[in-house]
Amino acid sequence: MPIALTKGLDEKCCDCGIAIHKKEIDGELEGRYADYGEHEQGGMRPKFCSGCWGRIKEILKKDQGDAILKRKELEREGAKHAIAQLDTFTDKDLTGIDFRTPDDAGVGM
Ligand SMILES: [Zn+2]
Repeated sequence: MPIALTKGLDEKCCDCGIAIHKKEIDGELEGRYADYGEHEQGGMRPKFCSGCWGRIKEILKKDQGDAILKRKELEREGAKHAIAQLDTFTDKDLTGIDFRTPDDAGVGM
């Protein structure tokens, strides 16, 4: 019976999207976000399954040099990962958003 299989699957991983039981939550974040595409801000508390949380922790441990190397590797393979440039100085919809990275804010990661 499908009902028995879904009982207690009240949470979902915010990375892979799989339904999970509360006891299967392996990590969660809490904080504010800025959605630059939709031009809105808010608060969120995404939860993650063990596989996604482990991958996120590994990415956070790596430095920016690793991230640049990964991007170069993907670009060499022909992937299109270029990020559109935003004009944050003249676009009035973007002037109220704080674009500082965690390092700029002195928080670090
Ligand atoms: Zn997941």
